[in-house]
Amino acid sequence: MFDLTPYNTFGLQVKSRDGVVITSVAELKRFHADSAIILGHGSDVLFTDDYDGSVLINQIQSLSVEKAEGDKFIVKAGSGLVLDDLIDSLIDKGIYGLENLSAIPGTVGAAPIQNVGAYGVEIGELIKSVVVYDLQRHIQEEFTKEMCQFEYRSSYFKKNKSRQLLITQVIFELSSTFNPKLSYKGLKEEKFSDAKALRSKVVELRNKKLPDPSLVGNAGSFFKNPIVSNDLADRLKAQYEDMPTYPAQEGMTKLAAGWLIEKAGCKGITHGNVGTWEHQSLVIVNRGNAKPHEVVALAKYVMAEVFNTFNVKLEPEVRTFDSKGEVSWDNL
Ligand SMILES: Cc1cc2nc3c(=O)[nH]c(=O)nc-3n(C[C@H](O)[C@H](O)[C@H](O)COP(=O)(O)OP(=O)(O)OC[C@H]3O[C@@H](n4cnc5c(N)ncnc54)[C@H](O)[C@@H]3O)c2cc1C
Repeated sequence: MFDLTPYNTFGLQVKSRDGVVITSVAELKRFHADSAIILGHGSDVLFTDDYDGSVLINQIQSLSVEKAEGDKFIVKAGSGLVLDDLIDSLIDKGIYGLENLSAIPGTVGAAPIQNVGAYGVEIGELIKSVVVYDLQRHIQEEFTKEMCQFEYRSSYFKKNKSRQLLITQVIFELSSTFNPKLSYKGLKEEKFSDAKALRSKVVELRNKKLPDPSLVGNAGSFFKNPIVSNDLADRLKAQYEDMPTYPAQEGMTKLAAGWLIEKAGCKGITHGNVGTWEHQSLVIVNRGNAKPHEVVALAKYVMAEVFNTFNVKLEPEVRTFDSKGEVSWDNL
């Protein structure tokens, strides 16, 4: 058995039948399994049980930076690099664009999967293409940005789970011009002399709100912000004037899951060994020695309270696996 405790930031004590650390594409060519769970740092996963299969831990590291037209730079990053280290090293090289995504835990290769985003920027905006290794057909393929189908916390890779595609490299188009994105309200009022200052502010804001997984087990936002019809949003807004709303695709409105959870009375609660974080109710935390079933039970409780209060269905953002593989919350 392979211990997955260090490979899930919830810190749950779970195992898989076996586990292999991959550091190169050549090693992938020798890897044959019917199916495998691919993991980076496990900062967006929940294991509800021991997994009866193989886990591939991705640590492919490589980096090349090429000057392109005008002020553009093409950065080819190995998928096992730590995303935050990459952002830091690019700022040192005078290459900008990723600053708002500072301090998001995890690897470069996992970031396109759910199109990670923070402080008004989604990673898909800066990606030129993504190179994958198809574990079923044993070939490499390059996905253009359009083929990646980036959406809010989703992409082609998240929607096509049956394809065993391991992202080996992410190719970014970045710039040597510092053009800060300050649409997020915590950044709007500020002036930033350079990218380092913006990065420091983002890290400071995040540290105030989010628990450090090395101290308190968690997987970041447990739930996605729900996207509801304008009709339902208008009815709720009439009842709750202070409810934040954001434009989404045509006819739809995005609501703030954290606000809904707080108003439903679930901020900072504790059930057994798990709870919701005092400073950000979207985050479910392991208060010490939590068992997977406690996380599931608390998430279901929060979902039910929000549904009963607002008639809004919350969907988990974390990828959830049981003994057989990825599992839908409707089946838990
Ligand atoms: C404290 C905290 C704060 C967070 N804040 C944010 C935030 O602000 N914004 C945000 O969007 N997310 C946030 N997250 C979630 C998490 O950081 C991201 O989803 C991150 O991209 C996960 O990286 P990872 O390497 O840990 O991926 P893992 O958790 O290991 O994997 C996540 C998923 O991607 C798949 N996967 C991983 N690597 C690969 C690969 N190379 N090829 C194919 N599939 C792969 C896995 O199978 C799994 O389904 C936060 C998490 C924590 C713990």
